Amino acid sequence: MVERAQFIATMYSFFKKLLIRLFPEKFLIRIEFILRFFYSLLYLGSAVRCTICGGKFTGFIPLASGDLLCPRCGSLPRQRRLWIILQPFIHPESRINILHFSPSRILQKKLRRKIPLYYTTSDYDRKSGTDKHFDITRIPEPDDRYGLIICFHVLEHIPDDRQAIRELYRVTKPEGRVFLQTPFKEGNMVEDKTITTAADRLHHFGQEDHVRVYSVEGLAGRLEEAGFSVQAEQYSADPVLGLKEETVLICSKTKVQIFS
Ligand SMILES: [Zn+2]
Repeated sequence: MVERAQFIATMYSFFKKLLIRLFPEKFLIRIEFILRFFYSLLYLGSAVRCTICGGKFTGFIPLASGDLLCPRCGSLPRQRRLWIILQPFIHPESRINILHFSPSRILQKKLRRKIPLYYTTSDYDRKSGTDKHFDITRIPEPDDRYGLIICFHVLEHIPDDRQAIRELYRVTKPEGRVFLQTPFKEGNMVEDKTITTAADRLHHFGQEDHVRVYSVEGLAGRLEEAGFSVQAEQYSADPVLGLKEETVLICSKTKVQIFS
């Protein structure tokens, strides 16, 4: 079983590297879902099911990172989970203005199709194909603009995360929510502004462009400093749906006024 998983991972990585070498990135992004569709035919089966594209396969593609990729839509476990969590909020008639930071290509495609009038995407990287390219520490939007903000795997890249969190709070509607996730570690969060090289950041924070590693308590504390009420939702793994154990912070803007 392990050998088969390794073979699948090696084959996927081989095809991906070959295509990247042969074609320009822009072209590959344009035809990504066509390529993935044909590739997924190799995996047709009934052992697992993707929550986003609905495809049924012999298995997900195990990546070197430990993530499980959907053969057809390229989704990762946290994206398949997010799709489930979002369901109550993405009916066109619910009319909730959603701001999605750094969306995956498949979620962006699905949500744009489902709620085109109420869905805005943003990524600082201008190559990402999002609607906006906000600096999250200076969001050029009025106060109380969004009913739901999705901010997954962003804050661990932002040096002034407290300012980013204040901005998230400012643009969230009074009855709104922010769904937030980063990589988390047990114990205390790790942050050191003197660690600046890519190699040191990889060693201390787990990725070359991360500037800290949060704990759930550490990030919840920073969110509460800005006025959010924070609920840490814990989800369990589901091998059939390719979901991993994970925590999502659900932040609501219900500030308790102690002093008037
Ligand atoms: Zn899928």
